[in-house]
Amino acid sequence: MTRTKLAKMKKTTRTSKRRRCPACGQGWLETTIVRDRFVHEEDGIRRPVLVEDVPIDTCTECAESFRGPEASRLHHEAVCRTFGFLTPREIFDLREKILRLTQEEFAHLTGIGLATISRWERGRLVQNRAMDRYLRVLRDNPASVRYLKHLSA
Ligand SMILES: [Zn+2]
Repeated sequence: MTRTKLAKMKKTTRTSKRRRCPACGQGWLETTIVRDRFVHEEDGIRRPVLVEDVPIDTCTECAESFRGPEASRLHHEAVCRTFGFLTPREIFDLREKILRLTQEEFAHLTGIGLATISRWERGRLVQNRAMDRYLRVLRDNPASVRYLKHLSA
């Protein structure tokens, strides 16, 4: 992305509807774009995670700052990429576009719990390494899907 485009994006975000600060009730929330860095542990391994272009809301009065659902989504995606796991979008695409199954059908086919699939796709839970490999096998080997259909029939 070019510098110009990024500046434009910042401006658009800032001019969004005015919202009161939920902390002090006095100031207004102003959205700015930041870069987040944190250390995350997955499967017993700790790694630094860098997240670019995270929107955060900062109060004009008390300087309290808030990270919303979009920031959570970006954080989750960055964790998946850092640790080499499929992202929520990639899991969704596997089920919806490659296999063309509903969440229920996918749960039946794979033996993975419906709630778990839903959490992966909404970015509430990161699949473990074994599950990530299972998903990759299904994505990259059509024969494995036929085999599972036979098993789950
Ligand atoms: Zn405030």
